[in-house]
Order: sequence, then C-alpha cells, then structure tokens
Amino acid sequence: MPGRVLLIVDMLNDFIRENGSLYCGPSAARIIENVAAVAKEFADNNEPIIFIMDAHEPDDLEFTRFPRHCVKGSSGADIINELASVAVHGKNVEKVTKNRYSGFFKTNLEELLQRFNPDEIHVVGVCTNICVLYTVEELCNRDYKVIVHRDGVASFDDQAHDWALKQMETVLGAVIV
Ligand SMILES: [Zn+2]
Repeated sequence: MPGRVLLIVDMLNDFIRENGSLYCGPSAARIIENVAAVAKEFADNNEPIIFIMDAHEPDDLEFTRFPRHCVKGSSGADIINELASVAVHGKNVEKVTKNRYSGFFKTNLEELLQRFNPDEIHVVGVCTNICVLYTVEELCNRDYKVIVHRDGVASFDDQAHDWALKQMETVLGAVIV
C-alpha cells in the first residue's frame, strides 16, 4: 500500500457550524460525515493526518475581505467535535496553523511532508475554491500525487466549487475521487 498522508483543511467551527462567523453553508455541513469517515480510516491504519487550521490575529488584514473568523484562541478556530477523536496530537497527527489561503505560507507543512515522505496526499476540507485549491496548487508544484475527495470538500459557492474541482483535475493534475 502506498504511503499516504491526509490533509484536513479548515474543518473548524467558524466555517462548519451554522453559527460560525464564516459559515460555509449546508454543503459544508454535508461533508462532515464523509470527512470523519476518511479521517477514521487513516487514524485506524495509523497513517499520518495533518490538520491545516486557519488562525488569525484579531486585526488580521484578511478581515478587510472576510468577516472576522478563526481568531487565535477562540472556539471558532477549534476543530469541529466530530473530528475531535482523531485530532488528538500524537506521532502521526499534526496541526498546522496558517493565516493565509495556502497551507504552506509561513508554516512548517513543507517540513512535515518531507518527514512523512508520502507517495500520495489525500485532501478534504473547505473551501474547495479557496484554501483547498491554493494548498493543492502548492502540493502539485512540489510534484506530490494529490487525491481530492469530491464528497469531502465543499464551498459556500457551488459554482466555484465545481470550477475548482475541474481546475485541480485538468490544470493541476490532481486526481478527483
Ligand atoms: Zn482566514
């Protein structure tokens, strides 16, 4: 079996919960079960899981474009309860905080991936057309084999979701399953 790593992007209260400050809508709520199932599969096999987590200072400039969300230390920045059991930090579970769309910008993601050295990287989370897309773009720049789970990604914008899946498949060379 190929060495795999699972990236779980922004499955955080502010994006996924209906009362979250940047709620991604019902399509985000619908992927919870699928994401939890994929995460459980990786956890049960003791395969690495990396949580990519938005985490902003209270005055982050991103808030000129989006409502305030995922402020460091707030419950909105926490991983949703449904993933809590796999989010326990251990040898094979890592948490990477970011403050921009790409999971690589000013983070240790590159280093972690070099350590795990996977044959393929599976990606789930939100939003398909923002943090998922810009992180996948960077994975593809690094020639990783990227597998995006169609039922494990979502956006507040269904059209942008469809466009981003197509873009990742046809332009970036990701495999959509
Ligand atoms: Zn953000």
